[in-house]
Amino acid sequence: MQRQPLEPLLAQLERGHLRRRRRTVEGYASVGSHAELIVSGLRLVDFSSNDYLGLAGHPEPAAAMAECAARSGAGSGASHLISGHGAQHAALEEALAAFTGRERALLFSTGYMANLGVMSALAQRGEAVLLDRLSHASLIDGALLSGARFKRYAHADAAAARRLLGASARPAAVLATDGVFSMDGDIAPLVDLARAARAHDAWLVVDDAHGIGVLGPTGRGALESAGLSAEEVPVLVGTLGKAFGSFGAFVAGSATLIDLLVQKARPYVYTTALPQPVAAATRAALAIAEREPWRRERVLALTARFRAAARAAGVTLSESVTPIQPIPLGSAEAALEAQRALSEAGFWVVAIRPPTVPVGQARLRVTLTAAHREDQVDALAEALGRACREAAARTAAEAPVRA
Ligand SMILES: *Cc1c(COP(=O)(O)O)cnc(C)c1O
Repeated sequence: MQRQPLEPLLAQLERGHLRRRRRTVEGYASVGSHAELIVSGLRLVDFSSNDYLGLAGHPEPAAAMAECAARSGAGSGASHLISGHGAQHAALEEALAAFTGRERALLFSTGYMANLGVMSALAQRGEAVLLDRLSHASLIDGALLSGARFKRYAHADAAAARRLLGASARPAAVLATDGVFSMDGDIAPLVDLARAARAHDAWLVVDDAHGIGVLGPTGRGALESAGLSAEEVPVLVGTLGKAFGSFGAFVAGSATLIDLLVQKARPYVYTTALPQPVAAATRAALAIAEREPWRRERVLALTARFRAAARAAGVTLSESVTPIQPIPLGSAEAALEAQRALSEAGFWVVAIRPPTVPVGQARLRVTLTAAHREDQVDALAEALGRACREAAARTAAEAPVRA
């Protein structure tokens, strides 16, 4: 066996317009808001973050973090089951259980790890796990970690999920779905999935990373919006780095479920506890989200405004009514070109390419936040209109001429 040279792998990604590059955010244009970034010395309005409520740059969570750090230091020093579980973690778990209306919540370091933990704890080798075809990578990796056989049903197709549940020789242990799909912004057919899971006695796991804090009459997320109870959806995963502008994630459910995860979820057991100042910041952010419902009303109003303005500018939109607004462009090259054009116009909108989305479905993914201004949203719609017209003109120019 010889080790494989790495340069050809990178060169191949480059040829396919699939090589990823990071750009460093040097700072923010104003204190207290992350809406405008400084990149390469230039100001860019950020339409790519998941900071839906505009809390990532808010001074209150930052102050809570600093105050906690001054008292308890930056590090937790050990895993939760050794000596790293602190008062701030316990208080945040209580606040999250109350917020989600469930018996208990368990804090994880990231949403990625929460999904690995839930899937591997609930499904065993020899069982089956069902996932939506467009599930987040962390649900897929969680299914792989569990050792269960996993099957994917057609995107957002509850009837297909039900057929697969019925057709399995072995009972499916888990049916898992995103609440809001991260790259498409559409919402899963949660009521029908809940019925199917219940009929076949499978655990229904909903990863509501993009719904929690944003959707539903009181911001409890996609489940509240669908009118689903904790009994109907026994396992809820939420992240804290998106609408709550902080970092970390949680699983909420029955006391028994949480106790089992503490025993068996390896990404919970074998890792250092999240720093307590991060938990303190999250609790402050949660309090702001609860007392300032205007934030979620505003992000949804800006989303509607963006859709109307983009349509008027001739931009093709998807059906999404959430703050995630994909602009389909097809090839990775076209998506990169549109990203470049928008960056020159003063907007940070990132091209989403395979393998994050299926081949041939590259796109720009616009996300709105409560921190944006109306004029910024209008200007983005216009710039997108120009970028899409240029992309169409290029495609027409490159098309073979018919004799
Ligand atoms: C972002 C995201 C995650 C991962 O959460 P992190 O806390 O960023 O690790 C999980 N699931 C979905 C659907 C996501 O969009």
